[in-house]
Amino acid sequence: MVIVRIGVPSKGRLSSGSAEILRSIGLNVTIGNDRRLLADVGKGKYQVLFANAKDIPEFVEAGAADVGITGRDLVEEQRKAVDKLLDLNFGSCRLMIAVPETSNVQSVDEVRDGAVVATSFPRLTREYFSSKGKKVDILEISGAAEVTPSIGVAELITDLVETGSTLRVNHLRPIETILESRAVLIANRQSMETKRTEIEELTFALESVIAASRKRYLMANVPASRLEDLSSFLPGVSGPTVMNIMGRSDMVAVHAVIAEEDVNAIIVILKEMGATGILVVPIERMVS
Ligand code: AMP
Repeated sequence: MVIVRIGVPSKGRLSSGSAEILRSIGLNVTIGNDRRLLADVGKGKYQVLFANAKDIPEFVEAGAADVGITGRDLVEEQRKAVDKLLDLNFGSCRLMIAVPETSNVQSVDEVRDGAVVATSFPRLTREYFSSKGKKVDILEISGAAEVTPSIGVAELITDLVETGSTLRVNHLRPIETILESRAVLIANRQSMETKRTEIEELTFALESVIAASRKRYLMANVPASRLEDLSSFLPGVSGPTVMNIMGRSDMVAVHAVIAEEDVNAIIVILKEMGATGILVVPIERMVS
């Protein structure tokens, strides 16, 4: 049997989301206290290699894992020779440029040539500043860029920002976004040839879970006379499904796929129409 080895962050910000999405396609992944490096997670077909998010692009490029989950920021920064297969719907953050709150600088255009920028993303930072025609000095650090302006070693920083609270606590103000990041699934190029079918099976499964995650399946009994009004706000995947209810000619059963954020508004409209038996249930997988 062909085994697909998946690189998964074993700790840090992407670990629980990675384990969760793999569990949602039936793989038995636990981020544990045991110190195993490799675990069989799916009937001898899938194996997990636990590693740091930062090392996963390298491991996938080298073929230590066939595919891997890591941050887009890390893939772009390291520019390893891997294929990007899929955006996963967690781990959102932005690589941003920030200045001290007291600075007058509002945009990169106003940054002086020769300014020192502290970052753990030297390549993306250098490229961004030079794309704006700015010559800055990059101070490469391995983390905690946010403290460097206050200790006088840098004038500005680039760092990953999710809510902005770390910047605020350190009296920094974001000015521009270099990159929007999320967790991504990447693949080893050779594995894409030798294990294409198995990797595609995994990718399609993940895709269907992601597609389903923000959708709900709605069922309701609706007065037949109001059916015409329905199609405008109940799109479904290809229009709502309408079924007869045994013994009732005045009501029909309607099923539709709706966006999670529309659920409350649609329930109100349905009730106004005289709908009964309204049910909203989660969808496990969606393949269009
Ligand atoms: P780790 O160093 O293992 O915690 O993982 C860091 C990765 O998590 C980053 O490279 C990003 O892809 C992702 N991430 C998501 N949100 C944030 C955030 N607010 N700060 C840092 N990393 C984040």
